[in-house]
Amino acid sequence: MEPLRNILRHKTAAVKFYEADATKIDHEKKVVYISDDSDIKGDISQTEVPYDMLVVAVGAMSATFGIPGVREHSCFLKEVGDAQAIRKKIMDCVETATFKDQSQEEVERLLHMVVVGGGPTGVEFAGELQDFFEEDLKKWIPEIADKFHVTLVEALPNVLPMFSKALIDYTEKVFKDEKITVRTKTMVKNVTDKTIEAEITHPDGTKSLEVMPYGLLVWATGNAIRPVVKDLMSRIPAQKNSRRGLAVNEYLVVDGTENIWALGDCSATKYAPTAQVASQEGAFLARLFNSMAKTQSLEDDIHRLSELKSTASGPEEHEKLDAQLQAREKQLNRLKQMGPFEYTHQGSLAYIGSDRAVADISWLNGNFATGGGLTYLFWRSAYLSMCFSTRNRVLVVMDWLKAKIFGRDVSRE
Ligand code: NAD
Repeated sequence: MEPLRNILRHKTAAVKFYEADATKIDHEKKVVYISDDSDIKGDISQTEVPYDMLVVAVGAMSATFGIPGVREHSCFLKEVGDAQAIRKKIMDCVETATFKDQSQEEVERLLHMVVVGGGPTGVEFAGELQDFFEEDLKKWIPEIADKFHVTLVEALPNVLPMFSKALIDYTEKVFKDEKITVRTKTMVKNVTDKTIEAEITHPDGTKSLEVMPYGLLVWATGNAIRPVVKDLMSRIPAQKNSRRGLAVNEYLVVDGTENIWALGDCSATKYAPTAQVASQEGAFLARLFNSMAKTQSLEDDIHRLSELKSTASGPEEHEKLDAQLQAREKQLNRLKQMGPFEYTHQGSLAYIGSDRAVADISWLNGNFATGGGLTYLFWRSAYLSMCFSTRNRVLVVMDWLKAKIFGRDVSRE
C-alpha cells in the first residue's frame, strides 16, 4: 500500500485529504456526505463536502451472491485488514489442530483450507498459501505435513477463464504437482461455521450435493457494487439498467449526470474490472482535467486578447495581437480534439505458486502465452514496475528478501 499522504506531500497544488467513508452522494445538491469511521472520534465525525466536479473511484466489494453463511464465516481478499484476518485464521487453525488430544477428524477439518472462486484472486491465493505451507509451516510443524490441504473450488468447468486454454491446462497441472485440489463444476450453495455445501455437476450432467468440512474459507468470487454507488445509481434514471456499476460514457462521465466521472471497479465499461484498466482510466482523467484547465485559461486569454485587439492603437499592435490570438485559438482547437478513453491491453499475468506464473501478453499486435519460472521473474519485475514510488519498490523488495531468508511473518495482533 502507498500512503496517500506520502503522494500528496509532493504535489504543488492544494489538495485536501480526509480519511473518511463517503456514505452518500447527492448529485442534485452536489454534496458528498462523509463519516469518520476510525476508532478515534473527535467532536465531529460526520459532515458534508460540496463539489463542482466529482470523481468516484471507490472500487467494489467482495460478491457473495446472497449465499447464506458467506459473510459470517469466510475471509475476503480486498483490503489489507482482510489479509491480516486470513493470516490470523491460518495460524489459529494450525495451532488448534495441534492442540493436545485433538481428534484426527477435527485435525483434518482444521487443516483443510478452501478457496472459493477460480479467478486470478483465488488462483494466486491458493498458490501462495501452498507456498507458505511448503516453505515455512512444514518446517516448523512437521507433524501436520500430511494433513494440510488446499482446495480450490470453481463453479465453471475451468479456472482462470480469461487465459488461453494452454495456460489453463498448465495451471491445473502445476496445481496438481503442488498437491492443490481443484474442484471445478462445483458451485457453493451454503456455508456454515465448519462446512461448505456445494452442488457438483458430474460429467453425465447429473448433480449432487457434497458437504466439505473446512478450517479456513477464503471467498474470492468476484466483485459486487458498494452501497454508496448502489444508492447513487438508484437515484439516477439513466443508471436503471446498469448491473455492474456506474454506467459511464466514453469520456468516463457518469450517464445521467454532467459533472461526475467514475473509473475503476465502481464503473461499468466494456472492459474487465482490472487494475490495468483502472490505472489507464486514471491517467486519462488526469489528462482530461489538465486539458479542461488549459482550455479554461486559453478561453480567458482569447477573451482578453480580443478586447485588447478591438481597442488597439495602431495597425502594428493590431497585427501583433491578431497573431497571438490565432496561436491561442490553434492551441484551443488542438486541446478540444482530445479523443475518448481507449484501453490498450498489455496482457494478463497471474502467480500460480512454486515460483511459477502464467502470462498472456499482447505484444506487437500478437498474443504470446507463457508459463513457468521465467514468467515468474517477469511477474515479479512487472509488480515492481507497477509500484507507485521508489519507496514502495524498495519496501516490496525488502519484504520479498525478508520472507525468503527468514520465512513469512506469522505474528497475530
Ligand atoms: P473473478 O470474477 O475473475 O472470478 C470469480 C470466480 O468465482 C468465477 O470464475 C466464478 O465462476 C466463481 N464463482 C462465483 N460464484 C461461485 C460459487 N458460488 N461457487 C464456486 N465458484 C463460484 O474474480 P477475481 O478473481 O476476484 O477477480 C476480479 C477481477 O480482478 C478480475 O477482473 C480479475 O481479472 C482481476 N484480478 C486480476 C489479477 C491478476 O491480473 N493477476 C489478480 C486478481 C484479480
